[in-house]
Amino acid sequence: MSPPVYCPRCGSVLGAKFDGGRYRPACLMDDCGFLHFGESSIGCGGVVIRDGKALLIQRGLNPGRGTWQIPGGYVEADEAIPAATEREVREEAGVIAKVREVIGFRHSASLPDRPVANLYVVFWLEWVSGEPRGDDIETLDAGFFTLPELEEKMGMQAMSLWAIKLALARDYGSGFVSHQESFELRPGWSVFGLPPAGA
Ligand SMILES: [Zn+2]
Repeated sequence: MSPPVYCPRCGSVLGAKFDGGRYRPACLMDDCGFLHFGESSIGCGGVVIRDGKALLIQRGLNPGRGTWQIPGGYVEADEAIPAATEREVREEAGVIAKVREVIGFRHSASLPDRPVANLYVVFWLEWVSGEPRGDDIETLDAGFFTLPELEEKMGMQAMSLWAIKLALARDYGSGFVSHQESFELRPGWSVFGLPPAGA
């Protein structure tokens, strides 16, 4: 992917500015200030455990149509990441669940053949209501499965299995939890961190 030529904010031809240790495409108009840091996207996944079983969806779209994984997807730019995760679980599996904590994340730095960097955050959610079902488009099927059952699933995604095993082995409280109440946040912020001491 070649760097942008025109400013996406004001349409001027971009120049270059030294910022953060390297030269980057930058808008040189005084009242704009756009700086291009590269392309990136954010994904989210949701682990939902109920009665010792984990929620899985069967992909309905390629790549990987027919394979199994935890529900998840891309986070919209104007969407809070916990809300995006709850939305994906609801849309893909028909299950209402609430974010409890962060299990882990994967960062993919950009490569020449994969220029968009990606951050994928896996949350642990508490089941609230709804029985799993596919939507016949994005997901062929969905259900709660025991560890031996899900390990047998076709094309079971390794990162999903990793996160499910971590969740099955403990109770809530060891991951990063929401700190929305801990200090004053700017609009749009979602802050997760270590559980408060003594919690
Ligand atoms: Zn500009």
